Amino acid sequence: MNVTELARKLKTPTNELLEILPELGFDIGAKAIKIDDSLIDKIITAHNNYKKKEKMRAEDEEIQEIKIEDQDKKEISPDKILEIGNEIIVRDMAEKMKFPINKVMAELMKNGIMVSLNSSIDFETATIIAEDLGFEVKKISSEKKEKEIEEEKMEKLKNLLSQNKNLKTKPPVVVVMGHVDHGKTKLLDTIRKTNVIDTEAGNITQHIGAYQVECSGKLITFLDTPGHEAFKAMRSRGTKIADVGIIVIAADEGLKPQTIESIELLQKEKLPFLIAINKIDKDEADIEKIKKELSELNLTPEDWGGKTICVEISAKQNINIDGLLEMVNLMADLENLQADAGRQAIGTIIESHVDKNQGPVASVLIQTGTLKLQDEFSAGHTFGKVKAMINYAGQNIKEAPPSTPVRILGFKDAPAVGDIFSAEISAQELKTIKKNKSKRPINKQQKTNSQKSDEEEKIKSLNIILKTDVIGSQGAIEESLAKIIREDLKIKIIKKGLGSITDKDVLDAEATKALLIGFHVQIDPNAEMLSKEKSIEIKNYQIIYKLLEDVEEKINKMSSEKIIRKQTGELKVLAIFKTLKNKSILGGKVIKGQIEKGNIAKIIRAKECIARGKINNLQSGKENVQEVVTGQECGIEFEGETIIEPGDVLEAYKEIKKQ
Ligand code: GDP
Repeated sequence: MNVTELARKLKTPTNELLEILPELGFDIGAKAIKIDDSLIDKIITAHNNYKKKEKMRAEDEEIQEIKIEDQDKKEISPDKILEIGNEIIVRDMAEKMKFPINKVMAELMKNGIMVSLNSSIDFETATIIAEDLGFEVKKISSEKKEKEIEEEKMEKLKNLLSQNKNLKTKPPVVVVMGHVDHGKTKLLDTIRKTNVIDTEAGNITQHIGAYQVECSGKLITFLDTPGHEAFKAMRSRGTKIADVGIIVIAADEGLKPQTIESIELLQKEKLPFLIAINKIDKDEADIEKIKKELSELNLTPEDWGGKTICVEISAKQNINIDGLLEMVNLMADLENLQADAGRQAIGTIIESHVDKNQGPVASVLIQTGTLKLQDEFSAGHTFGKVKAMINYAGQNIKEAPPSTPVRILGFKDAPAVGDIFSAEISAQELKTIKKNKSKRPINKQQKTNSQKSDEEEKIKSLNIILKTDVIGSQGAIEESLAKIIREDLKIKIIKKGLGSITDKDVLDAEATKALLIGFHVQIDPNAEMLSKEKSIEIKNYQIIYKLLEDVEEKINKMSSEKIIRKQTGELKVLAIFKTLKNKSILGGKVIKGQIEKGNIAKIIRAKECIARGKINNLQSGKENVQEVVTGQECGIEFEGETIIEPGDVLEAYKEIKKQ
């Protein structure tokens, strides 16, 4: 038979099969094309066993096993725990361990790894080195890492922005926040439609993450934060690059949890804000009630003798929008917002994607300096040269002064939203970024493709079927879900659609073990019935942040559930009494600890684990028992591969689920 034919039969790539064959004891040569037919059956059996073992090994890797002799050991002290992400710079690693850099370099060299202080090494390599130096290594959670990165970015930005020289007034950057459905989107739309500066291109505006309007001859920049403000981090980013906040409160509903959350966030960021009391056109509008609620929060309105500016508006009927903008200008004047238009531009990435035709495209909000065509820049881990700049009105522009949102072509790769954009970059810095980009972290052993796909497969996923009322909510939810990142788990939207939840959705959820989620939709009676029959839960939401909260809770639970396997004992197999399909009845003697009914048992031969099964039943004498201790003989019903032989050792384990 041809090697390729056999590989296909075994569902394995040909080169991988040729690599494995010598390990399995079939030395047919690395370039063989044909395999003797008499060997085929043997190879298939050996290969299947090999795959089974690989699978077992992979599963075991996921589980922490504690041997009997290690069970009394004390926990390692916290200052000997090193937390790292997927990779770490050698210098940072030494710093974290409080070791001289030379000692870490020497350890690396001892392991045959030649690197410089600024090289990055991967998690596996760092683990080997750190453990040799007496540390226990833990993978830093992506959430924690993200927070650290975020703080670092803000610190860097603050530094860059503080180096201005010729300060001049700049337009305020405004962020609109508030409870869902209180009219933020409507307000941003109304402002854009009615106040956007007339351009040659008419009033056609492009969605670039922000836009500018003119009020009494002064420019105001509005950030149009995505979706329903559902994602907390994005929201807080919005405030960090903004100068003024507008809190929208629907006059017919009053203060809601997200309103209060938004106010607290702005107060924490020390961002001045004003209140837009919206929907005053509605009969149910109760402005006094809102002012009372605000006073209770120590935000007494100006007309009640306090300091909080409240503007009564209707976004839908375009009532007093100009009044609101005037107030924003007034607030900006009081804040004396300034920037240095004369320096090279510094800003923040507010949108980023890869366009099919244009390649990486990103929008930047210029915070200080002026960006010009042909300027070289860095942005997070990437860099580029400004080839074209497009404003919110879709016009090509040559210069972007402070507070201008602008879409830029000329990125090497798409940067991340929130990355710092800087055209104030020396040739040396640019060189370092370019060098770092081309350099992958140094890995002791390059992984083969098959290993990589195995690893990728190991990542569990939380499947979701999503039905929404409108495409807008679908996008907003998807966007927010994409931001829930866990190292060992991923969220996979396996099906999405508009309209009610049907029985087909329930069946799909059952087949794919997915969470069935609806947002502002109906549930068909048939789907309702079927879901009860099949015990499939349908979750239907009215509020996005509740949906996100529940998904996050679910994924946290999945991610923190860990199985620990504690060894209970060891048994030496003395005789095999009976072999049935997938079951063996055997006799043995407990040589360590105790064996318990229901234990997981590993078959150890020549010190190697050859298979794993379960102890279904235990007998001592003729009696069924729950456990048998050291020195006792017993009979065992073992469920698993029927390969046990006298002389094998069974290592018995108890599995414990730990949160
Ligand atoms: P968001 O979730 O805060 O962005 O809220 P939206 O802007 O999507 O508005 C929610 C709903 O309130 C929509 O149906 C809007 O048409 C409506 N709405 C917004 N502003 C007003 C207003 O001033 N008056 C009235 N009557 N309805 C409004």
